[in-house]
Amino acid sequence: MKVNGKTKLYGVIGNPIEHTLSPMIQNNLANQKCIDSIYVPFLVKENNLKQAIEGAYSLNVQGLNVTVPYKEKIIEYLVAIDKEANIVGAVNTLVRVEGGYKGYNTDITGLSMALRKQNVCLKDRNVIILGAGGAARAAAVVCMKEGVKCLYILNRTLEKAKKLAEMINVSYKTDIAKGLILEDYNQLTDRYIVFQTTTVGLHSKELPVLIDDDNFYKKIMIGIDIIYEPPITGFIDRAKKAGARVYNGLDMLFYQAVHAFELWNNIKIDNITPQMIFNNVNYNNIILVGFMGSGKSTVGRELSSKLQFDFHDTDKIIESMEQMSVADIFEEQGEEAFRNMETELATKLKQNFDRSVIATGGGIVMRSENVQSLKEAGKIVYLKVSKDNVIERLERDKKRPLLQVNDREQRIIELLEKRNPIYTNMADHIIDTDNKTVDEIVKEIMTKVVLEG
Ligand code: NAP
Repeated sequence: MKVNGKTKLYGVIGNPIEHTLSPMIQNNLANQKCIDSIYVPFLVKENNLKQAIEGAYSLNVQGLNVTVPYKEKIIEYLVAIDKEANIVGAVNTLVRVEGGYKGYNTDITGLSMALRKQNVCLKDRNVIILGAGGAARAAAVVCMKEGVKCLYILNRTLEKAKKLAEMINVSYKTDIAKGLILEDYNQLTDRYIVFQTTTVGLHSKELPVLIDDDNFYKKIMIGIDIIYEPPITGFIDRAKKAGARVYNGLDMLFYQAVHAFELWNNIKIDNITPQMIFNNVNYNNIILVGFMGSGKSTVGRELSSKLQFDFHDTDKIIESMEQMSVADIFEEQGEEAFRNMETELATKLKQNFDRSVIATGGGIVMRSENVQSLKEAGKIVYLKVSKDNVIERLERDKKRPLLQVNDREQRIIELLEKRNPIYTNMADHIIDTDNKTVDEIVKEIMTKVVLEG
């Protein structure tokens, strides 16, 4: 992606925003469709929403996504709103029009598109929605558009469930929507398509559930949790074990992004699947691992320029974030603090980089969670170097924090013994760098990674 004076700017506003997958999806869509645009995350703090929208308009921002906690609050700053978004009372996509932005809710269309892909037909079905927040409202509109037979909205706060049911009944001139308290699942005796739309389970490893009763999960024919992180939530796990067909929220996320992209670019995108984007991204980065002195930065720079990829170096990213050198971080805060920074950064690589060559610090592999994060972020290329070459290459480099010892050679041997098996085990490709020029190493990597995959 090359940015120039004509590149159109899009973005997503929210708080927090750092976990968003939207830039990855939108920038990949733009790449695939050869559209000269860039999409970036904007952290907007409470009380700054109005200024953010006015500022975006003044800066000629062409469109925005809106996420938690602003999907409802944003409405007062819009010049127009789409009919369905108005029914839902929440907006997640802004399209630039004369004098400001018009709001749409592509969670509705995204969920519809996801259900179609999953062959889930709601017509004449009995449906339960767990939750009564913004996402539940979008799901309820989808249910009405698709012609469900009965709609039960179960929520922790009864009042909100009743309010949503009433809003649906009034908007669609019907009486099929009923608002209930969560515990009322006991009164429902049929088999149901169930949408889990609460935040329970979001970003949680413990698999919490909203309803902890196997009898409830036996009533589920198809279970859809609109949470996508983690991919298997407590709801999905329990519903699947009880025999239901299950889906998480990744398809919905993807298709709401596709519809926003369509609105912004006034085009229709057919035959695109999340896998086409997500698989592409997984293999897009090339991660260079290896011992200090193995040439990761030099090779990385050359390789990225040949491939027209971006180049990043984890040590340099940490240095710029901390505004101090790695050596100073070691000295002032200790190795553990530096390793924690590495771990935090490693978890963000997959999400934040694509089409990048990423050179990593030699010790990053000593934490198994980092190995996992790196493997998820791209293809691992291990630049292998012999002990003698390391010693020779590092002879004049006196700044390495881990080599501030009297017997440098012995220290190098010890570190190599610990790290080499890990580099070898995690590598997709091993490149022996001894006695080779940078050019030769780069060509070898390109052949292996680009041609062999
Ligand atoms: P929201 O408006 O804040 O609504 C949250 C809902 O969760 C409410 O019904 C709330 O119940 C319930 N809830 C929260 N904590 C609870 C707890 N401890 N026990 C019981 N109920 C609890 O949020 P939202 O905008 O609807 O988002 C909900 C979820 O949908 C989020 O996880 C979001 O990431 C996801 N989402 C996914 C997509 C996608 O594309 N896949 C799109 C939109 C949203 P009360 O009313 O009683 O407070």
